[in-house]
Amino acid sequence: MPPYPSRADFEQRLASPDWTVTDAGLAATADIECGNATDIETTGPVSISVAPLEDDVPVQMQIQGPISAYSMCVLTENRSDRPAELELEVRVPAWLIDHGFDYFLRKRYMTSSLDVAAPRPALDCKLLTSDRQRDGADTVSVTIPLAPHEQRVISTTARYPYSTCCERLAELATRHPSAQLVEIGQSVQGRPIIALEAGNRSAPRAVFTGTLQPGEQSAWAVTAMAEAVLGEDARWLDDYHLSFVPQTNPDGIVLGLCNVNALDELAAFGFEEATVGAACPAEVKALWGYLAASPPVVYVDFHFLRQPDHDRPKTYFFAPEIYDDAARAEKAIALNARLLALSGAAHPYGVEVGHELWRGLSSYQAAAALDAVSFLYQYTGPTTSHTEARTRGPQVMREALEVCLGLS
Ligand SMILES: [Zn+2]
Repeated sequence: MPPYPSRADFEQRLASPDWTVTDAGLAATADIECGNATDIETTGPVSISVAPLEDDVPVQMQIQGPISAYSMCVLTENRSDRPAELELEVRVPAWLIDHGFDYFLRKRYMTSSLDVAAPRPALDCKLLTSDRQRDGADTVSVTIPLAPHEQRVISTTARYPYSTCCERLAELATRHPSAQLVEIGQSVQGRPIIALEAGNRSAPRAVFTGTLQPGEQSAWAVTAMAEAVLGEDARWLDDYHLSFVPQTNPDGIVLGLCNVNALDELAAFGFEEATVGAACPAEVKALWGYLAASPPVVYVDFHFLRQPDHDRPKTYFFAPEIYDDAARAEKAIALNARLLALSGAAHPYGVEVGHELWRGLSSYQAAAALDAVSFLYQYTGPTTSHTEARTRGPQVMREALEVCLGLS
């Protein structure tokens, strides 16, 4: 038995969701794309309590670094003929509180619509107003106004469903003669991992990916990069062969997971194995195969967390001796300075060569094994938002392309 529903079972759940319904006709389900909740219970005529669905990764391992964007996402519905307010209580797991990570579930919640008749889920996430959210000792309660028969998604992060992302990329691929979609591999459950490529195929390659951590909805930034080069930044199409992979872990996104794939593997940290052909998660094998088949001159892996306790965006700067070629090392130093200026940070997050945890990252191995000028850009901080991520993504891309112009 796989730890999460198979692809066929998941499709079945989407077709006939398991709803929890109160006496007043207010309802909730986690059976939607990106849905994350378990043990959904009614606690009164207008109230429902949920617990987040947790990755099956030992706590001791999670708190050493991999933990990110612990999330909750449910679809709510008012089945009555009158306007109503649903009280949704989210139970915060004790270990998140004990280790100081409960902020993942205490940030301002978001709401978005879900039109079941639409071909793809909407991307209209908005913050709930603060007066609708109350923190308890080990709960967060949100009050959700619902019109008669209205459905709304409530979530801790701005969801960017895989189905929406695939359709968006397909649409973008029609915008320029050089643009095309490439399936770089498949997830554990057989979902295609899609890249949008565009530009000059005989020019140096530049690759931009969204993190393998599905709780960080980096597609907001990476799809915006693709939109930019197929629009106002089209000049780069002559100088580079560009590639964008907004969702590298489709199962994780679809199943509403936080940091893992459908086998509970921490795929974001599996790249050292991939470089030597050892066993690694399916998504890692796909992405590494894609990078190594035609090594880029520059590679940025974009991460996105809306969380208050990271004070500003973090640029992971690999010690320059990781590069074989002195010209690449120089460009990495120059790009680091640009990314710091963009982020308003005084210092990078320095990563020594051989670091036990970070050497598992795609960005680390792209530098170490492929000599690509390589960064993990973590867009985080109290003022980050999914709308700002759509600006920051293209900004990061432009800095990378400007600095690395001339490398071959
Ligand atoms: Zn991350």
